[in-house]
Amino acid sequence: MRRVLAILIAAALVVAAAWLLASLHGHVAIQLGDLSVEMATPVFALGLLVLVLAGWGVLNGFGILVTLPRRVRTARARRAHRLGDLAITRALVALAAADSGGARRESGRARRYLGDTPQTLFLAAQAARLGGLESEAETLFRSLAARDDAPLLGLRGLLQQAVTRENWPEAAALARRAEETYPGAAWLREERLRLAIQTGAWRDALALAGPNAPRAVYAAAAAQAEADPDEAIRLARQAWKDDPTLIPAALVYAERLRAAGRESRAQSVLRDAWQAAPHPDLAAATFAGIDDPMQRLKTAERLVAGNPDHPESHLLLARCALAAGLPGEARRHAETACERLNERRLWILLADIEEAEHGPTEAMRDALRRAAMADPDPTWRCAGCGTSFPLWHAACANCGTPGRISWEGAAKVPVNEATG
Ligand SMILES: [Zn+2]
Repeated sequence: MRRVLAILIAAALVVAAAWLLASLHGHVAIQLGDLSVEMATPVFALGLLVLVLAGWGVLNGFGILVTLPRRVRTARARRAHRLGDLAITRALVALAAADSGGARRESGRARRYLGDTPQTLFLAAQAARLGGLESEAETLFRSLAARDDAPLLGLRGLLQQAVTRENWPEAAALARRAEETYPGAAWLREERLRLAIQTGAWRDALALAGPNAPRAVYAAAAAQAEADPDEAIRLARQAWKDDPTLIPAALVYAERLRAAGRESRAQSVLRDAWQAAPHPDLAAATFAGIDDPMQRLKTAERLVAGNPDHPESHLLLARCALAAGLPGEARRHAETACERLNERRLWILLADIEEAEHGPTEAMRDALRRAAMADPDPTWRCAGCGTSFPLWHAACANCGTPGRISWEGAAKVPVNEATG
């Protein structure tokens, strides 16, 4: 409607101008040397208009001719850009559909139209990875990483490749470079934490872990590996304070305190740990340097004083009493433990006590038969995959899960029930 109105107004203006031109009176005479021309004023005005229009047309045509190569180049670039954008979209769709052939074709097309930009290189690399062409992808990621405009894209790809190959030192080096390129990226933090766990860099894991991570486990493992004695004590104390039931934390704390000459503090930590979560390793650590069986029994009595009714406490006292030549007391403790535990180690101990008291009797053979049918002894077991281990580890060697290995099989008796 607006266009029709504009045409009507333009037509009215042209008619008005023509009418104005036709209504002009008089003549125009031009004398050029011997040549003299005389014409009516409207004709002259019309001729002048035609001349001006023709001149403008010639100049315009000349301008078009001069700028033609540039215009052709611009048009070509626009077309390439449009087709390149289209190829990028198609490559993204193919990647999302896990169509490696389509992704490679379209990313190649995008590179032809747009050249090697961060987007085209990244898409080509992802397409190559999807197609299983890891070395081609690596070359592309390396050229991305070497650029100034988007090195993180290349480093991230190389890092993922290193993780897939389980080349942890290279992955850690790449993660450090990525951190320098883009400090504080959330994804990078996760990736560095994973690498720290994989490579056993527990101090790094502790520094990178969030509040919901098994921080006590990381701190205990870091304390075990720490070379600096003061720092080891600080880490061990942190682990033990974070989780007083974490046996390895108490053990490493006591061990580091002992190494620093703080024996009585180490013994106090072991006693507190026994009260929170009794474990044979706590007793073994307490007995370090004590060879006399009677002295061991006295030490064991002090160790279990905070948790005397726990089956593990009775089991320990039974062992120590037997070793100290007191089979009657050993039997009393072992039989109390029997009320709450039905484990192989307990029945074997009862058989030993019977043998010490009365020799190889039918009761001893009965205890051994019961040992064969009893529950298996407790062990360090991963709650993630169920694998058992002879020693505690901060992360499962089978499934890689950190902080899930716990002492299982022992009677889980709450402290208040045991001591009440
Ligand atoms: Zn596991």
